[in-house]
Amino acid sequence: MTCLVYTSAVLFCQCTIFIILQASSGGDKLLLVLLDGLRYDLFNADMPNLKQIGIDGVKADMILPPFPTKSIPSMYTTATGLYTESHGAVNNNYYDPETGIILDYEHTCNASEWFDTGAEPIWVSANFSGLTSGTYMYPGGSVEIKGVRPNKDVANTEWRWYNLPFRKRIDDVVTWFRDDDLDLVLLYHGQLDTILHATGMESSETMDMISEIDDGLAYLLDELNEYNLLEDMNIIITSDHGHTTAGDVIRVWDCISENDVDFWIPFNGAVGYLNPKLERREEVYQQLKECHHEMNVYKKDETPDYLHYKYNERILDILLLANPPWNLVMSNTTNETSVTEHGYDFLHSEMQSIFYGYGPRFKVGYERGSFESVNIYPLMCELLGISPSPCNGSLDNVSDLLDVTPSSNPNVVCSIPLVLFLILVSLTNVNI
Ligand SMILES: [Zn+2]
Repeated sequence: MTCLVYTSAVLFCQCTIFIILQASSGGDKLLLVLLDGLRYDLFNADMPNLKQIGIDGVKADMILPPFPTKSIPSMYTTATGLYTESHGAVNNNYYDPETGIILDYEHTCNASEWFDTGAEPIWVSANFSGLTSGTYMYPGGSVEIKGVRPNKDVANTEWRWYNLPFRKRIDDVVTWFRDDDLDLVLLYHGQLDTILHATGMESSETMDMISEIDDGLAYLLDELNEYNLLEDMNIIITSDHGHTTAGDVIRVWDCISENDVDFWIPFNGAVGYLNPKLERREEVYQQLKECHHEMNVYKKDETPDYLHYKYNERILDILLLANPPWNLVMSNTTNETSVTEHGYDFLHSEMQSIFYGYGPRFKVGYERGSFESVNIYPLMCELLGISPSPCNGSLDNVSDLLDVTPSSNPNVVCSIPLVLFLILVSLTNVNI
C-alpha cells in the first residue's frame, strides 16, 4: 500500500511540475511573419537584417511547401499543419463545379466555406486553449472557422494588398501586442509576389521591394524592443513558395475540345484542373497525355502520393502539371502568362521557401537542413504551450530548433483529468 501511495504521489508531483512548467513558460508571445513568394535563396539579394536574424536565432536551408506551391493552399498548410488534400483549401480560387462559381483571389481569402472544412488553423487552436490571437491579411484569417474568429483581424483585400506599406502593417501588429496583449499574431505581406509576377527576379522594382521588406524587419525588432515586447516574443519568418522565370506556353485547348469538358479553372500557370464530360473522360485523358512532353497528366486517383493531392472531393478529375519553366494556357480568352511563376512540384528547388526563427525559445546561431512546412503548426503550438490539433506535421521533425527539450506538450502527456484520475486512484488505494 505504501508503494502504491508513493507511486501515486510521485506521479502527482510529476504532473504538477509539468503543469507549473507549462504555466511558467506559457507567457511567451508568438509572431509569424509570412512574406509571400520569398524564395529560399532570397533571389541572391542582399537582406542583411534577415540574415542577422538567422545569426541571432535559427535558420533552415529551405522549406518544402505543399502542392500546389500556391499562396492559399500553402499558407493554410502553414497555419494548420495539414497537407492540401487534408485541409481542403485546394486552390487559390474558390470553385464549385455544381454551380460553376469561381471566385477571385480576394473573395476566396474571405470565403468561410473554403477554409471551414474541419481543419484547425493555429489561431483557432489558440482560442480553444484560452489564448488571444490576431491575423493581418492572412488568408482565412477574417472568417469564422469552427465557430471562431481571431480577436483582431485585418481582412485581405485588393486595395490593402497594394496600398498598405510593410511598416504600416508592422505598426498595427505591434499595437495589437502592446495595447491588446495578444498572444499570437500572423502578419502577411504579399507585394513582393505581385512584383515578381509582373517584373521578374532581377528588376529594380523587385530589388527595391526586397530592401523595403528587409528594412521592415529591422523596424519590427526596433519597435518590439521599444515597447519591451521583444524579450518575451518568439518570431517565425517564413514564406509560402518561391518563384521561377516562366518559359514557353502549352496551349491545352489545342489538344482537347471545350465541348468535351464540363468544368475547368480558367487561369494560366504551372497547373491546370478540369472535369471532362463523363462520357468523354477517357478520350480527353488520352488526348491530354499525348498533348506535350513537358505536361504531366494525372487522373485524380493516379496523382503521385507524395503530392498529397488526391483524397479530397474538391479536387477535380484531372490534374495537369507542367515541368518548370513551362506554362499551361487554361484560359480560353488569353495566352498571357506571368514573368515569373510558381505552383510547380515542390521538389523543384525554385519553389522552396524560407524559415527563420528568433526569440527566447530558439537556439542562437543554429542552421539546419530543409523541412516540410506542415511542421510549422506543431512548432507554433509548442511555442504557445498549447495542444496541437491532429495534423500531418510533427514537433519531432523540428524540435532541434529549440534551445530546450520540448515539453512533449503537457496537455497530452499529463492532462488535468489524468491528474484527477491519479489522485482518485491514490485515495482509493489508501482506503483499501
Ligand atoms: Zn504566394
